[in-house]
Amino acid sequence: MQTPWESLANEHILGIAPYEPGKPIEELERELGIHDAIKLASNENPLPPSDRVQKAIVAALTHLNRYPDGSGFYLRRAVAKRHGVTPEQIVLGNGSNELIELIVRAFLRPGEEAVIPHPSFVVYPMIVQAAGGIRVVVTLRDYRLDLEAMARAITPLTKLVFIANPNNPTATIVTAAEVEQFMARIPPTVIVVFDEAYIEFAQGPDFPDSLAYMRQERKVFVLRTFSKASSLAGVRAGYGVAAPDAVALVHRIRQPFNVNSLAQVAALAALEDDAHILECVRMIEAGRHYLYDEFGSLGLKYVPSRANFILVDVGRSASDIYQWLLREGVIVRPMTSFGMETALRITVGTPEENRRLIKAMRKCLEEARHA
Ligand SMILES: *Cc1c(COP(=O)(O)O)cnc(C)c1O
Repeated sequence: MQTPWESLANEHILGIAPYEPGKPIEELERELGIHDAIKLASNENPLPPSDRVQKAIVAALTHLNRYPDGSGFYLRRAVAKRHGVTPEQIVLGNGSNELIELIVRAFLRPGEEAVIPHPSFVVYPMIVQAAGGIRVVVTLRDYRLDLEAMARAITPLTKLVFIANPNNPTATIVTAAEVEQFMARIPPTVIVVFDEAYIEFAQGPDFPDSLAYMRQERKVFVLRTFSKASSLAGVRAGYGVAAPDAVALVHRIRQPFNVNSLAQVAALAALEDDAHILECVRMIEAGRHYLYDEFGSLGLKYVPSRANFILVDVGRSASDIYQWLLREGVIVRPMTSFGMETALRITVGTPEENRRLIKAMRKCLEEARHA
Protein backbone atom coordinates (compact mmCIF):
# COMPACT_ATOMS: atom_id res chain seq x y z
CA MET A 1 0.00 0.00 0.00
CA GLN A 2 1.25 3.42 -0.91
CA THR A 3 0.87 6.33 1.44
CA PRO A 4 -0.95 9.38 0.05
CA TRP A 5 2.41 11.09 -0.37
CA GLU A 6 3.96 8.06 -2.06
CA SER A 7 1.17 8.04 -4.63
CA LEU A 8 2.26 11.56 -5.54
CA ALA A 9 5.97 10.70 -5.80
CA ASN A 10 8.13 10.36 -8.88
CA GLU A 11 7.72 6.62 -9.50
CA HIS A 12 11.45 6.08 -9.99
CA ILE A 13 12.22 6.87 -6.39
CA LEU A 14 9.68 4.45 -4.88
CA GLY A 15 11.96 1.49 -5.60
CA ILE A 16 14.90 3.01 -3.74
CA ALA A 17 15.55 1.57 -0.29
CA PRO A 18 15.64 4.38 2.29
CA TYR A 19 19.17 5.26 3.42
CA GLU A 20 19.56 4.64 7.11
CA PRO A 21 22.11 7.00 8.57
CA GLY A 22 23.85 5.93 11.77
CA LYS A 23 23.02 7.64 15.03
CA PRO A 24 25.23 10.45 16.29
CA ILE A 25 28.01 8.95 18.37
CA GLU A 26 26.80 10.91 21.43
CA GLU A 27 23.32 9.32 21.22
CA LEU A 28 24.81 5.88 20.92
CA GLU A 29 27.01 6.44 23.96
CA ARG A 30 24.02 7.64 25.94
CA GLU A 31 21.88 4.63 24.93
CA LEU A 32 24.59 2.08 25.67
CA GLY A 33 25.84 3.85 28.78
CA ILE A 34 29.38 4.00 27.43
CA HIS A 35 31.83 6.77 26.69
CA ASP A 36 34.89 7.28 24.49
CA ALA A 37 33.33 5.27 21.67
CA ILE A 38 35.45 5.11 18.53
CA LYS A 39 33.98 5.32 15.05
CA LEU A 40 35.58 3.07 12.47
CA ALA A 41 32.48 2.87 10.31
CA SER A 42 32.56 5.52 7.61
CA ASN A 43 36.11 5.52 6.25
CA GLU A 44 36.77 8.95 7.68
CA ASN A 45 40.26 10.19 8.45
CA PRO A 46 40.92 9.74 12.18
CA LEU A 47 43.15 12.84 12.22
CA PRO A 48 41.56 16.30 12.40
CA PRO A 49 42.17 18.79 9.59
CA SER A 50 45.61 20.37 9.83
CA ASP A 51 46.18 23.64 11.73
CA ARG A 52 46.60 25.45 8.48
CA VAL A 53 43.19 24.29 7.27
CA GLN A 54 41.54 25.10 10.59
CA LYS A 55 43.05 28.61 10.52
CA ALA A 56 41.75 29.17 7.00
CA ILE A 57 38.27 28.15 8.10
CA VAL A 58 38.35 30.43 11.14
CA ALA A 59 39.53 33.35 9.01
CA ALA A 60 36.58 32.82 6.66
CA LEU A 61 33.96 32.91 9.43
CA THR A 62 33.64 36.70 9.38
CA HIS A 63 32.55 36.60 5.74
CA LEU A 64 29.71 34.15 6.22
CA ASN A 65 27.16 36.90 5.70
CA ARG A 66 28.11 36.72 2.01
CA TYR A 67 27.21 34.02 -0.50
CA PRO A 68 30.06 31.77 -1.56
CA ASP A 69 32.05 32.45 -4.72
CA GLY A 70 29.75 30.65 -7.14
CA SER A 71 32.56 30.06 -9.62
CA GLY A 72 34.89 28.53 -7.01
CA PHE A 73 37.57 30.63 -8.72
CA TYR A 74 40.56 30.09 -6.43
CA LEU A 75 39.88 26.45 -5.67
CA ARG A 76 39.29 25.51 -9.30
CA ARG A 77 42.43 27.38 -10.31
CA ALA A 78 44.51 25.57 -7.69
CA VAL A 79 43.04 22.15 -8.53
CA ALA A 80 43.62 22.74 -12.23
CA LYS A 81 47.22 23.70 -11.60
CA ARG A 82 47.74 20.60 -9.49
CA HIS A 83 46.58 18.37 -12.35
CA GLY A 84 48.09 20.33 -15.23
CA VAL A 85 44.69 21.17 -16.74
CA THR A 86 42.70 24.39 -17.11
CA PRO A 87 40.03 25.61 -14.65
CA GLU A 88 37.48 24.97 -17.42
CA GLN A 89 38.17 21.28 -16.87
CA ILE A 90 37.24 21.37 -13.18
CA VAL A 91 33.81 21.25 -11.59
CA LEU A 92 33.43 21.47 -7.82
CA GLY A 93 30.86 19.55 -5.83
CA ASN A 94 29.32 19.47 -2.38
CA GLY A 95 31.39 16.35 -1.85
CA SER A 96 32.14 14.11 -4.81
CA ASN A 97 28.74 12.52 -4.14
CA GLU A 98 27.09 15.59 -5.61
CA LEU A 99 29.16 15.19 -8.76
CA ILE A 100 27.97 11.60 -9.18
CA GLU A 101 24.44 12.94 -9.11
CA LEU A 102 25.17 15.86 -11.45
CA ILE A 103 26.90 13.61 -14.00
CA VAL A 104 23.98 11.17 -13.99
CA ARG A 105 21.47 14.00 -14.36
CA ALA A 106 23.47 15.67 -17.11
CA PHE A 107 24.04 12.58 -19.26
CA LEU A 108 21.81 9.62 -18.42
CA ARG A 109 18.51 9.74 -20.27
CA PRO A 110 15.55 7.76 -18.88
CA GLY A 111 15.80 4.18 -20.12
CA GLU A 112 19.54 4.35 -20.73
CA GLU A 113 21.87 2.01 -18.89
CA ALA A 114 24.61 2.52 -16.35
CA VAL A 115 27.04 -0.32 -15.67
CA ILE A 116 27.67 -0.57 -11.93
CA PRO A 117 29.93 -2.93 -9.98
CA HIS A 118 28.55 -4.83 -6.99
CA PRO A 119 29.28 -4.70 -4.13
CA SER A 120 30.38 -1.13 -4.53
CA PHE A 121 29.35 2.38 -3.58
CA VAL A 122 25.58 2.35 -2.94
CA VAL A 123 25.21 5.89 -4.24
CA TYR A 124 25.63 4.84 -7.91
CA PRO A 125 22.56 2.59 -8.18
CA MET A 126 20.51 4.94 -6.04
CA ILE A 127 21.11 7.95 -8.27
CA VAL A 128 20.79 6.00 -11.51
CA GLN A 129 17.45 4.68 -10.37
CA ALA A 130 16.23 8.10 -9.25
CA ALA A 131 17.05 9.41 -12.73
CA GLY A 132 14.97 6.69 -14.39
CA GLY A 133 18.07 4.92 -15.72
CA ILE A 134 18.63 1.18 -15.85
CA ARG A 135 21.17 -0.35 -13.47
CA VAL A 136 23.26 -3.04 -15.09
CA VAL A 137 24.95 -4.65 -12.11
CA VAL A 138 28.19 -6.59 -12.55
CA THR A 139 29.33 -8.72 -9.61
CA LEU A 140 32.92 -8.44 -8.39
CA ARG A 141 35.30 -11.32 -8.87
CA ASP A 142 37.62 -12.21 -5.99
CA TYR A 143 36.60 -8.94 -4.32
CA ARG A 144 37.81 -6.94 -7.35
CA LEU A 145 35.93 -5.10 -10.07
CA ASP A 146 35.58 -7.46 -13.03
CA LEU A 147 36.39 -5.04 -15.83
CA GLU A 148 36.11 -7.74 -18.47
CA ALA A 149 32.58 -8.56 -17.43
CA MET A 150 31.81 -4.85 -17.16
CA ALA A 151 33.01 -4.31 -20.73
CA ARG A 152 30.87 -7.25 -21.88
CA ALA A 153 27.85 -5.70 -20.12
CA ILE A 154 27.97 -2.67 -22.41
CA THR A 155 25.09 -2.46 -24.90
CA PRO A 156 23.98 0.21 -27.38
CA LEU A 157 21.91 1.65 -24.50
CA THR A 158 24.88 2.08 -22.15
CA LYS A 159 25.70 5.69 -21.28
CA LEU A 160 27.75 5.45 -18.07
CA VAL A 161 30.16 3.06 -16.39
CA PHE A 162 31.19 3.57 -12.77
CA ILE A 163 34.64 2.48 -11.64
CA ALA A 164 35.32 2.97 -7.93
CA ASN A 165 39.08 2.72 -7.68
CA PRO A 166 39.89 1.72 -4.95
CA ASN A 167 36.51 0.08 -4.54
CA ASN A 168 34.37 0.58 -1.47
CA PRO A 169 33.70 -1.77 0.47
CA THR A 170 36.44 -4.17 -0.71
CA ALA A 171 39.40 -1.69 -0.79
CA THR A 172 40.82 -3.39 -3.89
CA ILE A 173 42.03 -1.63 -7.03
CA VAL A 174 41.85 -2.26 -10.72
CA THR A 175 45.33 -1.94 -12.25
CA ALA A 176 46.68 0.28 -15.00
CA ALA A 177 46.94 -2.74 -17.32
CA GLU A 178 43.34 -3.80 -16.63
CA VAL A 179 42.01 -0.30 -17.19
CA GLU A 180 44.03 -0.03 -20.41
CA GLN A 181 42.42 -3.20 -21.79
CA PHE A 182 39.01 -2.02 -20.64
CA MET A 183 39.34 1.42 -22.25
CA ALA A 184 40.35 -0.22 -25.52
CA ARG A 185 36.92 -1.89 -25.63
CA ILE A 186 34.75 1.10 -24.71
CA PRO A 187 32.76 2.75 -27.53
CA PRO A 188 33.01 6.56 -27.79
CA THR A 189 29.37 6.99 -26.71
CA VAL A 190 30.05 5.58 -23.23
CA ILE A 191 31.26 7.81 -20.39
CA VAL A 192 33.57 6.20 -17.82
CA VAL A 193 33.46 7.71 -14.33
CA PHE A 194 36.59 6.99 -12.28
CA ASP A 195 35.68 7.57 -8.64
CA GLU A 196 39.05 7.92 -6.91
CA ALA A 197 38.04 8.94 -3.40
CA TYR A 198 40.83 6.87 -1.82
CA ILE A 199 43.57 7.40 -4.41
CA GLU A 200 46.07 8.84 -1.90
CA PHE A 201 46.09 5.52 -0.01
CA ALA A 202 46.42 3.44 -3.19
CA GLN A 203 49.48 4.87 -4.86
CA GLY A 204 51.85 2.47 -6.57
CA PRO A 205 53.23 1.78 -10.04
CA ASP A 206 50.22 -0.45 -10.82
CA PHE A 207 47.66 2.31 -10.15
CA PRO A 208 46.11 3.66 -13.38
CA ASP A 209 46.58 7.26 -14.55
CA SER A 210 42.94 7.93 -15.33
CA LEU A 211 43.65 11.58 -16.20
CA ALA A 212 45.77 10.36 -19.12
CA TYR A 213 42.57 9.10 -20.79
CA MET A 214 41.11 12.56 -20.43
CA ARG A 215 44.20 14.04 -22.07
CA GLN A 216 43.66 11.55 -24.91
CA GLU A 217 40.17 13.04 -25.26
CA ARG A 218 38.44 9.87 -24.15
CA LYS A 219 34.99 10.23 -22.53
CA VAL A 220 35.99 10.13 -18.88
CA PHE A 221 35.22 11.94 -15.65
CA VAL A 222 37.71 11.66 -12.80
CA LEU A 223 36.28 12.30 -9.33
CA ARG A 224 38.35 13.22 -6.30
CA THR A 225 37.40 14.30 -2.80
CA PHE A 226 38.72 16.18 0.21
CA SER A 227 36.71 13.90 2.51
CA LYS A 228 39.24 11.13 3.05
CA ALA A 229 43.00 11.85 2.96
CA SER A 230 42.44 15.59 3.59
CA SER A 231 40.35 15.02 6.76
CA LEU A 232 37.48 17.18 5.49
CA ALA A 233 34.46 14.84 5.31
CA GLY A 234 32.42 17.31 7.34
CA VAL A 235 32.78 20.32 5.07
CA ARG A 236 31.70 18.53 1.85
CA ALA A 237 34.11 19.30 -0.98
CA GLY A 238 35.05 17.27 -4.01
CA TYR A 239 35.75 17.86 -7.67
CA GLY A 240 35.52 16.34 -11.09
CA VAL A 241 38.03 16.61 -13.93
CA ALA A 242 36.87 16.22 -17.55
CA ALA A 243 36.89 17.85 -20.96
CA PRO A 244 35.81 21.53 -20.93
CA ASP A 245 32.58 20.83 -22.85
CA ALA A 246 31.69 17.96 -20.49
CA VAL A 247 32.34 20.21 -17.49
CA ALA A 248 30.28 23.01 -19.06
CA LEU A 249 27.24 20.72 -19.23
CA VAL A 250 27.55 19.84 -15.55
CA HIS A 251 27.90 23.54 -14.66
CA ARG A 252 24.56 24.19 -16.37
CA ILE A 253 22.65 22.05 -13.89
CA ARG A 254 24.54 22.64 -10.66
CA GLN A 255 23.20 25.09 -8.13
CA PRO A 256 25.07 28.39 -8.30
CA PHE A 257 26.34 28.10 -4.71
CA ASN A 258 26.71 24.33 -4.44
CA VAL A 259 30.02 24.51 -2.57
CA ASN A 260 29.90 26.64 0.57
CA SER A 261 32.51 29.23 1.53
CA LEU A 262 34.06 27.25 4.36
CA ALA A 263 34.41 24.20 2.14
CA GLN A 264 36.13 26.28 -0.52
CA VAL A 265 38.72 27.84 1.79
CA ALA A 266 39.28 24.57 3.66
CA ALA A 267 39.82 22.60 0.45
CA LEU A 268 42.14 25.28 -0.93
CA ALA A 269 44.29 25.17 2.20
CA ALA A 270 44.21 21.35 2.22
CA LEU A 271 45.31 21.20 -1.39
CA GLU A 272 48.51 22.97 -0.42
CA ASP A 273 49.08 20.72 2.56
CA ASP A 274 50.89 17.67 1.22
CA ALA A 275 52.54 17.14 4.61
CA HIS A 276 49.19 16.36 6.23
CA ILE A 277 48.26 13.87 3.51
CA LEU A 278 51.66 12.20 3.74
CA GLU A 279 51.32 11.86 7.51
CA CYS A 280 47.87 10.30 7.15
CA VAL A 281 48.91 7.95 4.38
CA ARG A 282 51.88 6.70 6.42
CA MET A 283 49.75 6.26 9.51
CA ILE A 284 47.11 4.30 7.54
CA GLU A 285 49.76 2.12 5.90
CA ALA A 286 51.26 1.23 9.27
CA GLY A 287 47.75 0.67 10.65
CA ARG A 288 46.87 -1.70 7.80
CA HIS A 289 49.90 -3.85 8.55
CA TYR A 290 49.22 -3.86 12.27
CA LEU A 291 45.62 -4.95 11.62
CA TYR A 292 46.63 -7.64 9.09
CA ASP A 293 48.91 -9.17 11.71
CA GLU A 294 46.29 -9.01 14.42
CA PHE A 295 43.46 -10.32 12.21
CA GLY A 296 45.81 -13.15 11.25
CA SER A 297 46.47 -14.05 14.87
CA LEU A 298 42.70 -13.96 15.55
CA GLY A 299 42.32 -16.44 12.70
CA LEU A 300 40.31 -14.01 10.56
CA LYS A 301 40.54 -13.69 6.79
CA TYR A 302 40.66 -10.23 5.26
CA VAL A 303 41.02 -8.64 1.84
CA PRO A 304 44.39 -6.84 1.51
CA SER A 305 43.56 -3.15 1.30
CA ARG A 306 44.65 -0.27 -0.92
CA ALA A 307 42.50 2.19 1.03
CA ASN A 308 41.92 3.32 4.62
CA PHE A 309 39.55 0.46 5.44
CA ILE A 310 39.63 -3.33 5.45
CA LEU A 311 36.99 -5.92 4.63
CA VAL A 312 37.25 -8.65 7.27
CA ASP A 313 35.52 -12.02 7.39
CA VAL A 314 34.63 -12.72 11.01
CA GLY A 315 33.52 -16.28 10.19
CA ARG A 316 30.17 -15.90 11.96
CA SER A 317 27.23 -13.49 11.95
CA ALA A 318 28.79 -10.10 11.30
CA SER A 319 25.75 -8.32 12.69
CA ASP A 320 26.20 -10.17 16.01
CA ILE A 321 29.86 -9.18 16.19
CA TYR A 322 28.91 -5.65 15.18
CA GLN A 323 26.45 -5.47 18.12
CA TRP A 324 29.02 -6.86 20.54
CA LEU A 325 31.68 -4.45 19.37
CA LEU A 326 29.20 -1.62 19.80
CA ARG A 327 28.83 -2.48 23.48
CA GLU A 328 32.61 -2.24 23.73
CA GLY A 329 32.38 1.24 22.23
CA VAL A 330 33.75 0.30 18.82
CA ILE A 331 31.59 1.19 15.82
CA VAL A 332 32.24 -0.69 12.57
CA ARG A 333 30.10 -1.42 9.52
CA PRO A 334 28.47 -4.82 8.98
CA MET A 335 28.18 -5.79 5.32
CA THR A 336 24.86 -7.59 5.72
CA SER A 337 23.09 -5.15 3.38
CA PHE A 338 25.48 -6.29 0.63
CA GLY A 339 24.58 -9.93 1.27
CA MET A 340 27.94 -10.56 2.96
CA GLU A 341 26.65 -12.08 6.18
CA THR A 342 30.02 -12.66 7.84
CA ALA A 343 31.91 -9.53 6.72
CA LEU A 344 32.67 -6.29 8.48
CA ARG A 345 34.14 -3.18 6.88
CA ILE A 346 36.50 -1.58 9.34
CA THR A 347 38.08 1.83 8.88
CA VAL A 348 41.74 2.01 9.87
CA GLY A 349 42.07 4.37 12.82
CA THR A 350 44.91 5.89 14.82
CA PRO A 351 47.35 3.39 16.38
CA GLU A 352 45.49 3.70 19.66
CA GLU A 353 42.08 3.16 18.04
CA ASN A 354 43.40 0.13 16.19
CA ARG A 355 44.65 -1.39 19.44
CA ARG A 356 41.26 -0.80 21.07
CA LEU A 357 39.53 -2.39 18.10
CA ILE A 358 41.67 -5.51 18.33
CA LYS A 359 41.23 -5.78 22.08
CA ALA A 360 37.44 -5.51 21.66
CA MET A 361 37.43 -8.00 18.76
CA ARG A 362 39.43 -10.51 20.76
CA LYS A 363 36.93 -10.23 23.61
CA CYS A 364 33.89 -10.46 21.30
CA LEU A 365 35.20 -13.45 19.41
CA GLU A 366 35.98 -15.16 22.71
CA GLU A 367 32.41 -14.55 23.88
CA ALA A 368 31.02 -15.67 20.55
CA ARG A 369 32.87 -18.95 20.92
CA HIS A 370 31.23 -19.57 24.29
CA ALA A 371 27.78 -18.26 23.34
C1 LIG B 1 33.87 8.21 0.63
C2 LIG B 1 33.59 8.00 -0.81
C3 LIG B 1 33.41 9.11 -1.65
C4 LIG B 1 33.53 10.51 -1.13
O1 LIG B 1 32.31 11.14 -1.09
P1 LIG B 1 32.27 12.70 -0.70
O2 LIG B 1 30.90 13.07 -1.15
O3 LIG B 1 33.33 13.37 -1.48
O4 LIG B 1 32.46 12.78 0.76
C5 LIG B 1 33.22 8.89 -2.99
N1 LIG B 1 33.20 7.65 -3.50
C6 LIG B 1 33.38 6.57 -2.73
C7 LIG B 1 33.39 5.21 -3.35
C8 LIG B 1 33.56 6.71 -1.36
O5 LIG B 1 33.69 5.63 -0.58
